[in-house]
Amino acid sequence: MTDVVEMLRAELGERVDTSPAARAAARTDRSGQRSAGDPIAVVHATDVSDVQATMRIASATGTPVVPRGAGTGLAGGANSDVGEISLSLAGMTRIHEIAPDDLLAVVEPGILNADLNTALAEHGVWWAPDPASRAISTVGGNIATGAGGLLCAKYGVVRDAVLGVDVVLADGELVRFGHRTVKGVTGLDLTALMIGSEGTLGVIVGATLKLRRLPTGIVHSIAAVFSDVRAAAAGTAAVTAAGLSPAIMELMDATSLRAVHALLDLPAPAAGSVQVTAQTDGPDAAEEARRIGEILASAGASVEVSDDPDRAEELLVIRRSMHPAMESLGTALIEDVSVPRSAMPDMFDAIARIEREHGLVIPVVAHAGDGNLHPNFICDGPDIPPEVWRAADEMFRVALALGGTLTGEHGVGVLKAHWLREELGDRQWELQRGIKTLFDPQNILNPGKVFV
Ligand SMILES: Cc1cc2nc3c(=O)[nH]c(=O)nc-3n(C[C@H](O)[C@H](O)[C@H](O)COP(=O)(O)OP(=O)(O)OC[C@H]3O[C@@H](n4cnc5c(N)ncnc54)[C@H](O)[C@@H]3O)c2cc1C
Repeated sequence: MTDVVEMLRAELGERVDTSPAARAAARTDRSGQRSAGDPIAVVHATDVSDVQATMRIASATGTPVVPRGAGTGLAGGANSDVGEISLSLAGMTRIHEIAPDDLLAVVEPGILNADLNTALAEHGVWWAPDPASRAISTVGGNIATGAGGLLCAKYGVVRDAVLGVDVVLADGELVRFGHRTVKGVTGLDLTALMIGSEGTLGVIVGATLKLRRLPTGIVHSIAAVFSDVRAAAAGTAAVTAAGLSPAIMELMDATSLRAVHALLDLPAPAAGSVQVTAQTDGPDAAEEARRIGEILASAGASVEVSDDPDRAEELLVIRRSMHPAMESLGTALIEDVSVPRSAMPDMFDAIARIEREHGLVIPVVAHAGDGNLHPNFICDGPDIPPEVWRAADEMFRVALALGGTLTGEHGVGVLKAHWLREELGDRQWELQRGIKTLFDPQNILNPGKVFV
């Protein structure tokens, strides 16, 4: 391993970091998972050629490489282990091109989502994927995980917002997938294959992003308080079934809401209160907000509709404080099941039953506009106890039985690798594993993640 570090140093000099602090930090992301030991080095790439040099040395020596953006992932995908190289893309932050008339931008992978959008706003455009972590996560990480966010029910997820990617393959060769055009169906869609590939197929070193014009009109907010989570879930499903497209529609159950109010020093909500927060934008924002308010009220909520931007921000702060609020309750295993919107009430019922039967606390927040639920299994101590894994296992099975999926946006990483085959089935798992082998015959790209 000393040889590998020496080879890296000879090509990359000070960009090879073997300090104990950097190596220890690379063992973990925000999932609470930690690898068994420190990687041999962290390479801080500043250029495509740094990534190519790293991969050439890695393939010549059979050394595993774990690509890493900002390390905000919630599946353990960026965690690197003993004998591995952590390859950080966080220093590659250049914007090569913004073309508002063509609605595209060409960027490096390490730029933070929020920084990109600040730069794009000057041109009247934006990149729509908006994970709640947008201020701290990279565009490359967003692409590699196939991230979603609050606005994606109306404006789409990463998969809908990438035209092409530049990828350094396992042997160090640079290839370009995709195109700069709105249409393009030449050959297989390898851009789509890279989205959500979690560093297992190649290193994303550039991306051609599909932009949107900034929405016009005054954002309207709807805050709807229910006394029952099933009624709240049914209410949100009724909103989308009515053909309405709120830009945001989030649901926080009673435990989540209480924890966030405590964290933010807000007055405690009434016992058992569940909150749905929705926002509308565009030219019909006011009328859509009125209709959404009516539907949620007839589902049993007390409803407030507002066009005050401060109130809109206040409601978003409450929603975005979910993650720190869960950290204040203990260790949280943050799950990410997604179900058809009409199945959300049944999914909430199942989680409540699992919570009762396993004697656990499982606060849930949901991107209710698209049926994506984040149950947070709270436990003591740094490790997830077997009882929690048993409860999570039961929850995954319910989600699959309801026509859903294990992960809507966080990815498989190490956390869900154990269940991947069950969702895909043997034949599809073998096909996917075959694709992985084609891209990475030595299995040096993020081994031990996704396909185990
Ligand atoms: C407070 C909080 C809120 C969050 N909210 C959301 C949310 O609303 N929606 C959502 O989808 N996620 C959310 N996340 C999870 C996380 O922010 C996203 O998964 C994000 O896309 C990860 O980006 P990153 O730069 O931190 O990637 P990392 O965590 O560094 O890496 C994630 C995965 O991508 C791979 N990877 C990273 N960069 C590259 C690259 N350039 N090439 C190849 N592979 C690469 C890594 O190997 C790893 O498998 C949240 C996390 C936190 C902490």
